Amino acid sequence: MDYRGIFDDAVDALRSEKRYRVFADLERVAGDFPRAIYRDSADNAREITIWCSNDYLGMGQHPKVIAAMQETAGRIGAGAGGTRNISGTNRPLVELERSLADLHRKEAALVFTSGFVSNEASISTIARLIPNCLILSDQLNHASMIQGVRQSGMEKKIFRHNDVAHLRELLAAAGKTRPKLIVFESVYSMDGDIAPIEAIADLADEYNALTYIDEVHAVGMYGPRGGGICERDGLMDRIDVIEGTLAKGFGVMGGYITANASIVDAVRSYAPEFIFTTALPPALCAAAHASIEHLKTSTAERDGHQRQANRVKHVLAEAGLPVMATSTHIVPLIVGDARQCKAASDMLMERHGIYIQPINYPTVPKGTERLRITPTPYHTDEMIAELRDALNSVWETLDLKRDFDMTKLQANKLTAGDLTLPSVGG
Ligand SMILES: *Cc1c(COP(=O)(O)O)cnc(C)c1O
Repeated sequence: MDYRGIFDDAVDALRSEKRYRVFADLERVAGDFPRAIYRDSADNAREITIWCSNDYLGMGQHPKVIAAMQETAGRIGAGAGGTRNISGTNRPLVELERSLADLHRKEAALVFTSGFVSNEASISTIARLIPNCLILSDQLNHASMIQGVRQSGMEKKIFRHNDVAHLRELLAAAGKTRPKLIVFESVYSMDGDIAPIEAIADLADEYNALTYIDEVHAVGMYGPRGGGICERDGLMDRIDVIEGTLAKGFGVMGGYITANASIVDAVRSYAPEFIFTTALPPALCAAAHASIEHLKTSTAERDGHQRQANRVKHVLAEAGLPVMATSTHIVPLIVGDARQCKAASDMLMERHGIYIQPINYPTVPKGTERLRITPTPYHTDEMIAELRDALNSVWETLDLKRDFDMTKLQANKLTAGDLTLPSVGG
């Protein structure tokens, strides 16, 4: 048997579809983010600027966060030493969960090793515990949510992205008495659009459904205390389960849910992804906790983030580059072709020292391949001007298209998933 050949063929299939992923070897420079040292395939090092980080607020390099991590590791040690049930529940983790429950004004919180695991574990466990549960899932939900829906083994219906009328149809068809769970995101990270949260909560009330929202791309970044879009819009008490990550806006690692104490206790007690794995290390919990507490009172990061994101959108649009309009901090720049998208990304890195990872199918629909730009408060006006000039030069050299019908592109995403669950992208 040629076992090795099987794996090589599998990877070659991705290469021929232009879906083979190449990772950039980066060493971020703390205190100097978004600057980083990049090493190419021959290990030659040079300094570059990162324009696609999910460390949206630069909290990964915040002095308070680094100090909390160092101090705690020195005092308590490196690892947690066990699962939550067997000696791993450490003091900083307990304090972190309290801080998260307070952030979202919920009775309780539960921390997982990642946002991915928190979605998979919580959605599958919650749905599985509800007899005859029907899951209603937004078409563009993240791979981790899709995984949770699948894993539950319960019946599912996919509603068209952010389409309240379609959701209503599906709810009405299921009837008011059947138990239902609606799962959706607040900020969708590829198009940077926001769900009609209040309308979905109204429907949930009307049809007796439970609601689960992924606020991964909003926590830390929106709301007066960084509680996300639900906090910003005064809707935290309208949603039953709020899920988030500690790895993006908060700049560290880990994931969580917050909800009433009964839901949290049930997930804590039934989810294998929570039970049978080692607890997060104390230093990491202390760092995440420091980040959350800082962002509950400091608005400088959120203000700077919005300011620089708006500036990038404005400057690139003014330069005639195909920016998709968004109401959030995410700036998608459409290329529309997988090969060209990769070529543009390579040229930005090689010639201009600018790193923006190409985003191709299946993460986004074919024909909407893009450079997804994520400005942070630490991207200066000069860096934005450099970005504009570099992009203009790349667009000219590669003869890339500048005129896309953006409203059509945004509407077109309906055809992509075709209302089946897309494969796991990311
Ligand atoms: C990144 C992401 C996750 C996973 O969070 P991690 O903490 O990185 O595992 C979940 N949901 C969405 C929408 C994401 O973009």
